[in-house]
Amino acid sequence: MKLQDKVSQIKGVGGKRAALLHTLGVETVDDLLHLLPRRYEDRRALCPIMAAPEDTPVLVSGKVIAKRQGISTRGRKVPLRVVVQDSSANLELLFFNSRYIDGLLVTGQSYTFYGKISINAGRRQMVHPEFHHLGDRDDFRGILPVYPLTEGLTQQMMRKLQREAAGAADEAAEWLPDSIVRQHKLCSPSYALRNIHFPQDERQIREARYRMIFEELLVLQTGLLYIKRGRNRLERGIVVPEKLSVQDFLSALPFALTDGQQRVWHEVEGDLSSPRPMNRLVQGDVGSGKTVVAELAMYKTVKAGYQAVMMAPTELLAKQHYASLKRDLEPLGLEVGLLCSSMKSKEKEEVLARLSAGQIDVLTGTHAIIQPGVEFKALGLVITDEQHRFGVNQRTMLAEKGDEPNVLVMTATPIPRTLAVILYGDLDISVIDTMPKGRRPVRTFLRYDDARGKIYDFVETQVGQGRQCYVVAPLIEESESLDLRSAEELYEEIKAGHPRLRTGLVHGNMKQEEKDAVMEAFAAGRLDVLVSTVVIEVGIDVPNATVMVIENCERFGLAQLHQLRGRVGRGEHQSYCILICGHESKLAEQRNQIMVSTDNGFVIAEEDLKLRGPGEIFGTRQHGLPELDISDLVRHADILASVRTVAAEILAADPLLAENKALRQRVKKMFGENISLKL
Ligand code: ADP
Ligand code: MG
Repeated sequence: MKLQDKVSQIKGVGGKRAALLHTLGVETVDDLLHLLPRRYEDRRALCPIMAAPEDTPVLVSGKVIAKRQGISTRGRKVPLRVVVQDSSANLELLFFNSRYIDGLLVTGQSYTFYGKISINAGRRQMVHPEFHHLGDRDDFRGILPVYPLTEGLTQQMMRKLQREAAGAADEAAEWLPDSIVRQHKLCSPSYALRNIHFPQDERQIREARYRMIFEELLVLQTGLLYIKRGRNRLERGIVVPEKLSVQDFLSALPFALTDGQQRVWHEVEGDLSSPRPMNRLVQGDVGSGKTVVAELAMYKTVKAGYQAVMMAPTELLAKQHYASLKRDLEPLGLEVGLLCSSMKSKEKEEVLARLSAGQIDVLTGTHAIIQPGVEFKALGLVITDEQHRFGVNQRTMLAEKGDEPNVLVMTATPIPRTLAVILYGDLDISVIDTMPKGRRPVRTFLRYDDARGKIYDFVETQVGQGRQCYVVAPLIEESESLDLRSAEELYEEIKAGHPRLRTGLVHGNMKQEEKDAVMEAFAAGRLDVLVSTVVIEVGIDVPNATVMVIENCERFGLAQLHQLRGRVGRGEHQSYCILICGHESKLAEQRNQIMVSTDNGFVIAEEDLKLRGPGEIFGTRQHGLPELDISDLVRHADILASVRTVAAEILAADPLLAENKALRQRVKKMFGENISLKL
């Protein structure tokens, strides 16, 4: 068996299995060996039933001493109950809807069972354990890998295939420079490949995983640094002369820039006047005033004779930008345009004609602006708002509408700097870390279900004073098992309980136009209360809204709660955020405490990372980063840090990766299309 062999060479792999493996991205034996276990099951030793810890998977053995058949009468299902016994205690096994199991477990015979034990009213129970006859072929003692699967493939099958392929691991040659291997005490690739699948003990898992994580992060970092350097080498970008003044824009603003805005604007200005294309991420908490910085950059770019474009993730947000751009830039003589897919084709055509003729200086809109047929006369600046909603591809497609235009991306997702450097390794980063003066912090409260009556009375009082309110529900369909209050249910409840409130509903299953219509009614003050699922998370700006009620707040991530809270506190009135917690739990309490104690998005993001890990917060896909198989950007932050230095050293000595061919190949494989610089 060779690494480069097709999987169909493996015994037991025919066309059908090869196709299944293909859906997992596996073509060759090498690919198969790189399909890594998600976790392991420790079946090295039998645990006495009495001594088994609760809620951790364990292997026990026992003799079947009694059975009670499950029945299912109309609607009610009674599980099959099997009592087994070892020398320490009894254990009750429960099987739902599995009549066939009755025949497989014979009274008086002994089996091994693998599963989690829970203690219920003093009784030890295991639900749906995996079981084998004690001592038969499949009754295995050792550490078992658990693989990601696809329908039609079982763990048993996958383990068998991995065993067949294992021999080829010996062929995997060292591809990292000797010095790095020694300095970081890496095991060899063949050792790693073998032991990641079939380890004898924890130490082997650790060593193998370390090597794999190191490799993966090194390839990631090298790719990101390579892209960044490639951009920096280009010296043929658009130059916006430093001396062009934006004083008239600043004088017309009803406020002075905050320190943070000023600093970031200077950084942006520096990029604009440099011949190397700007590629900058502006991070700033919700309400920190990113739009003004974008406007400044657009104004200056237009003054230099170019056009500028700003893309927003939703139509509502695009329209909001359109309104502010008209307000702020038209008086200075700029032509502002809007392009959304919902516009009539005649309107669109007119915008497109004016755009390509250079009559529109500044365009804003939704994804519609990256469609073919949208042509600029001289595009000099490309801005993406709420960047976390777009992938790297969309960002690139927009930039390709011009010839090396300056690129600015803005996001309110407060990513800790350490992580941002990695996530956006190809970008420079600016942070607006101050809030406009005079903002009163949003007062945040944590309440439980029983306070709901009072909370909605409070909403009614606020509305009586002319204010508006958001209510956020986590799910749209009623779901008994999760006990969530759905948006629709809530909406009906509020309408019934508070008929005086003009209440509207938006949720993810509505058509975009329907959503926009409701949100516009709210923005225009024709609705008092807006009940929604998280769709309102992005950028809606209604300064008159002062109350944010979040139901089942334990279902949201902290960063998300923070984003939601940022929807209020945008006007002159004191605002409130009320977190309603569905049930009391230590973790929920802890999380909410963080929300109540700080309104600093970066602090919240750090805490969120600690509590949840990055995978859930930023899907790597969403950020255009390649998928990672084994590494976790937060949990492996220390490895990442050392890898970053290694990547920088390698690229410094070998900028085109001409010497490090294996690394180069891996970078190409990981980044695919995204490596645009002819690596
Ligand atoms: P975000 O960063 O969330 O996009 P915006 O740019 O929408 O924030 O700004 C939020 C609000 O703050 C807007 O109404 C804007 O006019 C106002 N604003 C921006 N900068 C300042 C400032 N320096 N002083 C006072 N208000 C400001
Ligand atoms: Mg914004």
